[in-house]
Amino acid sequence: MTEQAIEQAAAILSRAKRIVVFTGAGISTESGIPDFRSPGGVWDRFDPTEFTYQRFLSSEDARRKYWSLSKLFYEPLVSANPNPGHDAVVALERWGRLDCIVTQNIDGLHQRAGSSPDRVIELHGTALSVSCLSCRKRHSREEVQARVEAGEEVPRCEGCGGIMKPDTISFGQPMPERETAEAFRRAENCDLCWVIGSSLVVTPAAHVPVAAVNAGAKLIILNGSETPLDEAADVVLRGKAGEVAPRLIERARALAGETA
Ligand code: NAD
Repeated sequence: MTEQAIEQAAAILSRAKRIVVFTGAGISTESGIPDFRSPGGVWDRFDPTEFTYQRFLSSEDARRKYWSLSKLFYEPLVSANPNPGHDAVVALERWGRLDCIVTQNIDGLHQRAGSSPDRVIELHGTALSVSCLSCRKRHSREEVQARVEAGEEVPRCEGCGGIMKPDTISFGQPMPERETAEAFRRAENCDLCWVIGSSLVVTPAAHVPVAAVNAGAKLIILNGSETPLDEAADVVLRGKAGEVAPRLIERARALAGETA
């Protein structure tokens, strides 16, 4: 990544007033949570077709496997702390330029970093709670995970006995309607969409930045590797979110004549 690219991105950022930050698993890898598609990521170790929503619904065996592997995913997620990439997004909000964060992440780290919860749109749900698929009662993930640790192989709703599932969106599961509609509405009204740490191959989430560009917004992509949207971007920054995002904000603020 060149200094010229940072300079170009900072110039765009310094002029933007309604920024939609679109984040993916890459913003959280520096917090120790593996992404899905980098070498050594989750899909190098597991077969995604084994973890579809349909399998979870239709087979007790699939649910047992899901919950037995859940410790592997949940532990690093709850023990992780936000990193300078998340902090940079908080700085953008405090600067008054952030419209919202549309995140594919399920780790809650934007909120833990200090981003206002009402500005975080979780497109793929959250791993921090669990719901009964029958009566919709919501439970804390911590509480349900403790039951699993204590030996309950497939936890059931204590109220109605229904199947319980973490509030994450699995493959094959419908997207949350309100969040999806809101994400597209915000994207269509922003003046800059800033992608941080996403491969932009998971749809329909990846259509959010496309909607922003189609509506006339600028696009900056900060990611560790190529994405299918790189050609549509005004600037592509190749690097680590936790290193590049803070630099970019600092430079944009300097260009806007402000100090951090
Ligand atoms: P992805 O795994 O498809 O892509 C992550 C991208 O981030 C890659 O292109 C990689 O090059 C880049 N990256 C990795 N580390 C980076 C860093 N330090 N700085 C900048 N870029 C970096 O992730 P995705 O696009 O979010 O889609 C995967 C799906 O997986 C999403 O639906 C998401 O819900 C889920 N997921 C979430 C988490 C989480 O909540 N932290 C973790 C894994 C997967």
